[in-house]
Amino acid sequence: MSYLVLARKWRPQCFEEVIGQSHVTRALQNALSTGKVAHALIFSGPRGVGKTSVARILAKSLNCTNGPTASPCNSCDVCKQITAGNCVDVNEIDGASNRGIDEIRQLREEIRFQPVLCRYRIYIIDEVHMLTNEAFNALLKTLEEPPAHAYFIFATTEPRKIPETIRSRCQHYEFRRLSESVLQQHLEWIVEREGLGLPREAIQLLACQAQGSVRDSLSLLDQITAYGAKNYEEVCQALGVAGLVTVEGLVKALLENDIEKALSVLDRVYDLGADLQRLAQDLLKFLRDLAVIKNVNEKSACSLTQLSAERIRELSQTFSEIPFLTILQAMDMVSESVDEIYRSFTPRTSLEILFMKICSLAQCAKIDEVLEGLEKLVLHGEDGGGNDADFNSDQTSEGPEQNLKNSQISSGQRESGSPQDTKDKASNKERIQADYKSLWPQFVKFVKDKDPGLGAILDSCVEIKPHGKGRLKVLCSKDFKGEMLCSPERVHQINGLAASFFNAPVDIAFEIQDKADHNSSDVSAKKAEFSSRPSQRQELIKNPLVQEAINIFQARISGVTLYTRNNKRQRS
Ligand SMILES: [Zn+2]
Repeated sequence: MSYLVLARKWRPQCFEEVIGQSHVTRALQNALSTGKVAHALIFSGPRGVGKTSVARILAKSLNCTNGPTASPCNSCDVCKQITAGNCVDVNEIDGASNRGIDEIRQLREEIRFQPVLCRYRIYIIDEVHMLTNEAFNALLKTLEEPPAHAYFIFATTEPRKIPETIRSRCQHYEFRRLSESVLQQHLEWIVEREGLGLPREAIQLLACQAQGSVRDSLSLLDQITAYGAKNYEEVCQALGVAGLVTVEGLVKALLENDIEKALSVLDRVYDLGADLQRLAQDLLKFLRDLAVIKNVNEKSACSLTQLSAERIRELSQTFSEIPFLTILQAMDMVSESVDEIYRSFTPRTSLEILFMKICSLAQCAKIDEVLEGLEKLVLHGEDGGGNDADFNSDQTSEGPEQNLKNSQISSGQRESGSPQDTKDKASNKERIQADYKSLWPQFVKFVKDKDPGLGAILDSCVEIKPHGKGRLKVLCSKDFKGEMLCSPERVHQINGLAASFFNAPVDIAFEIQDKADHNSSDVSAKKAEFSSRPSQRQELIKNPLVQEAINIFQARISGVTLYTRNNKRQRS
């Protein structure tokens, strides 16, 4: 008895059965109905999303005894032969193993003859990008003037590797990766028909692991059926992964600084024999999805995370208490560790170290508070011309400033509780906001070093507005640059860069401004002002207090900000 794998058993036999590619099937059905099917087509897209299946359905549509038709009958001899893969006029060629010029020459000889049984000769070349240049050149001649009885369907995962000369002679259809929710529905449908009785979470896990490929999802389903998995835990075991529920619980424990729980989940996953490198990736993906959900509306979140609306609501509910910046920091740390965990001989230990780091985030003084303290140090140093006693005179007595005060800088030298305190603190905050603004040109330069393209786009921003502590609103021009900056991926990338440049989490939001040239002179004025005072900056760096602070914090200087003395004079 031979077992037919699910992917073949449930292979779509007509356009209506193809899932997730309606943009392609609809266009092809229209072309068939109007008799306008191009003689050379490219089907591109990730593996296992239906390219070859659709090519076969198209072959049937063209050659069906009752056709050409947009709905092949699947019961005539021709349809049956094509389904079985033994139709003499429909040739499926694997481009990877028949990539040379000889094979293509043979094809060119053959194609001149009329079809044997069917209406058309159809050539389906899979992985066509693997053909050699000579083979492509040989093919080009045929594509320039294809015989009326011939059709070519080129399937590829890498359309860019097909020479432009070939591409320009073909109609190009791009197949999409399937969303998790669509895959999940499809799997539920098959699981029901196969009578497999798998729980919903297990199917959800399969849909997630298949990464948008129908074929992969069905192969995984075969795998767990062979294993005899009936419940969620067994499915996780069969797939060698930490389940979604596990990953979710783990992320929750980490973000809530529950190291005990996090380590015991890891222990359980380890005992189950799950792939720990995969776990690190799953963690990163989960955090990334959470970060997206925290930042965009439900509709965008659906398309960006490929999760169902229901799942998105569930996740935003579960993680409603966790601030976005905590997620961002955790994501940053996991993403930095993924490579290391891949290379590590002891991935478990590497993961444990990572978990401890994430859980200790809450115990650390917030870096922006520490920086605020330092900024204050520098400010006073500047005001008092490096005079330690003067500089110390109006420190407040809470938070990170207290830590600074208790340290070796000037123990026993200061008094606290000056009436000036509250006022100072408030205006200091204002200045730090202004500071993000004046540091902007440097930040743009920093981005240019890392990613020149992105830097150039950032440079086009029109106006920078501090928008509360650690927040910036940036107005950008109403053109493609502005639109690029407003996309969630870009915003995320820029915020990541800003966090490392400012040494603190910064929340930058972009907004498109209608008047494109508004206030652009303001930005250049800032730039000019900024570059005009290099010597003052050098002096500040050499200031003994700054040097002391660097020693205490084991720090390095990532930027120097100058404040106008006018403000201070006005105050005092
Ligand atoms: Zn038929």
